This record gives sequence, structure tokens and C-alpha cells, in this order.
Amino acid sequence: MNKIKDNCFNDFDSNAISVEIAVQKILRSIKTKASSERVKIKQALGRVLAEDIKSTINVPNYKNSAMDGYAINVEDFSQENNIYKCIGESFAGDPYTNKVGINKAIKVMTGGLVPDSCNAVIMKELVKIKNNMIEIQSKVVKDQNIRFPGEDIKKNQKVLLKGNEIDEIDIGILASLGIEYIPVYKKPTIGFISTGDELVSIKKSIKPSQVYDSNRYLLHGLLTKYPVAIKDYGVVKDKLASIKKKFDKASSECDVLITTGGVSVGEADFVKDVLTLLGKVSFWKISVKPGRPLAFGKIKNCIFFGLPGNPVSVVVTFNLFVRSAVDKLVGKKNKNSLALTAELVSDIKKRKGRKEYKRGILISRNKKLFVKTSGSQGSNILSSVKDANCYIELDEQMGQLKKGNSVKVLPFSLSSEHYE
Ligand code: AMP
Ligand code: MG
Repeated sequence: MNKIKDNCFNDFDSNAISVEIAVQKILRSIKTKASSERVKIKQALGRVLAEDIKSTINVPNYKNSAMDGYAINVEDFSQENNIYKCIGESFAGDPYTNKVGINKAIKVMTGGLVPDSCNAVIMKELVKIKNNMIEIQSKVVKDQNIRFPGEDIKKNQKVLLKGNEIDEIDIGILASLGIEYIPVYKKPTIGFISTGDELVSIKKSIKPSQVYDSNRYLLHGLLTKYPVAIKDYGVVKDKLASIKKKFDKASSECDVLITTGGVSVGEADFVKDVLTLLGKVSFWKISVKPGRPLAFGKIKNCIFFGLPGNPVSVVVTFNLFVRSAVDKLVGKKNKNSLALTAELVSDIKKRKGRKEYKRGILISRNKKLFVKTSGSQGSNILSSVKDANCYIELDEQMGQLKKGNSVKVLPFSLSSEHYE
């Protein structure tokens, strides 16, 4: 790669590392929390399995009917021999277990046990019933309308793997196997602190030069989606001694500490200095927009993320860096995320030198994908994230982009509302 020199017309910074290297460094310094606990499946939503789960039964557990109808043995059926005597009934939960002989049938409900002596079920709409006799008026094929043991899940089959994040379908599957408790990784503790003299709590009225502390609420929301214990350490003023005291206490109580603000090179930015004093800075500049100043390191055993102060930077850097760290910490094996290619519907301004994550609106029209930016892209404009449904990922080397150019798009999620 041709390395372009830093100058005031581009965004290159030779002290900044790439997004990929930053993620590698972060992942290398994190180990999954080894200890596990057993939880009831109802309490397991979002938790991560610490062991593989094997089925101890077949699902279904017995041969049963997929229809309301009549069970017969197909060997004695022909167009000429299609009259059967109905000798019993098999309901779900109330089986018929005797032998069903030649030219005999039983009435069977959906989910009702089909005896070994029967090998086909005829829908009740396809037979004529007179007294206790039925006349079959359709073709009959062996095994039709029968559900076999183990058709869904076989005994001893691995159903869910270690590292799987439990969702509502998994809970249904576990219940179908009669499993009440599962082993999951213990929750790591993640704390967060806002830094800034201008920050005001949401209950108070605000004066000019003050800002409501939205980052703590943002982080609380972002972290609530993970199987972690959350600790809110409030706000700390831009004073080295206060920051040091707070970081020291919080880092001794948490597996991960996230701070926002005060990480740049301004006169009131002490986060990096305190991290140097108490622990170790691994890196603090990433060639990314938003989020260039981001202090990553450790205070004793506590992983430290000093995120920038602007709320958009908090969301983007959380998604790019903190999320992969938390996933690894909680033992989650990542599902592949989906990247798409879409056509720009308007020009995009960009300087070379940093990888940018613009907030975008992706739509599908006439089977083609189009994308545009979602309003003002300033890192303080949180509504640009609210209105967006994707990131537009633009590489470091890219400069201005024109309407019609193809760009890489990372959807936030894939619900149908993204498509017009
Ligand atoms: P800083 O990184 O401390 O220079 O902050 C950058 C910008 O983000 C400033 O405009 C701050 O007022 C704003 N900011 C910092 N922390 C917060 C917060 N907790 N909530 C909302 N805005 C914040
Ligand atoms: Mg600040």
C-alpha cells in the first residue's frame, strides 16, 4: 500500500493504527470468563452456553400422526380392497396400543400415537364413513402423514454448541428436550463513567455551556443487550486527581471499564494521562471517523476503553471495538455479519486518511440496493444514527464519492422495513 504522508489537506495520522489492527489488539488482550453457572431456561435469554447441549431423547419421541384421520397398514390396501373397520381411537396423550389387523383402521388425531402395525394415515376428509366402516377414496402411500421419532432432533445429537447465545428459539428447543437448567458463562462486570465539567444530570435544569449527560444512558442501553452486570459510576469532573481516584476504584471492581470524553489532546483531557499513571495504554489513536482518539489499555486486570465524548462517536466506537471485546469476554462465538454493496444516491464528502462510518439509509428499489447518508454527519448529531439503518463503510484511501458509486454497507439489522 502506498503510504500517503500526513498533511493538513488529508486526514492521515502516522500515529494512528487501523481499525483492523485495533480490533486484533483488543481481542488479543481479552480472555473469556472461564467460570460458569447453571440457570433456568426461562432466565437464559441472551446468556452464552458454556458447554455443548446434547439431546437425551428423540424429538418427536414416538411415531405420530401429522393429520386428523385414519391409520391403516398400506400392505392390505388396493383400489378393490378399500373398506376398513374402525376398531379404536388414538388421541395425543391417549394412545391406542393394540395391534391393528388386516382391513382394520383406527381413528387418529394430530399428534396421536400411530401403532407399529400401521404405516399410513389417511386424512379424514378423504374417507367416507358409514357406521364403524370407512371407505378410502384416495391413493395411499407408505409413511404418508406420519411423523417419525427423531425426525426433528435425534437422541445424543448435539443441539446447541458452547458459545451459542441463547435466543427464544433455543429456549423452545431446550424445553422440547425436557431440559430445565443449562450451563452458561458467568456475567462479567462492566462499569462506565462520564467525564466532563459541562455534564448535567437529566433531572436538573440546564444552563448555557452545560450538556445533559446522554452517554451514560446510551451505554446503559447498549450494554443491557449483553449478558453482563452493569455498574454506573456517574460523572467525574475534568480534574486529574478526581479522575484518578474514580478510575482506581472502578477498575478494581470491574472486568471492563468504559469512560467517555476527555480522551483527546485538549487542556481538560486527562483520561490518557490517568490510564498511563494507573495502568498501561495499548493504543490511543485509531485511523477512524468518528472515534480517532480512543484510549485502550488495562488497569491491573481491568480492560479499559476510553471512548470519545461525542455521542455518535460513542455508538460507533462501541459497535466497532467494545462489542467484539464484550462478545469475546462473555464467550460468544460471533455469527457472521452481513455486508452489502449499494449504489450512492448522492455525493459524499470525504478526506483521504481515515476509515469512515457514515450513518446511512439503505433502501431496495427494483431489486437494486441504494444508500444515502442520514442527515448531518457531525459526531454530535445523534439523530443521524436514529434515522439510519446502516453504516456506509468507506476505506482510508477513499476520497470524495460521487452519486452512482458503489459502496460497502453494513446493515444494523435485517428487518423488512428497510425495503421500500
Ligand atoms: P470531549 O471528548 O470530552 O472533548 O467531548 C467532546 C464533546 O462531547 C463535547 O462537546 C462534550 O460536551 C460532549 N460530551 C462529552 N461527554 C458527554 C456526555 N456524557 N453526554 C453528552 N455529551 C458529551
Ligand atoms: Mg470533555
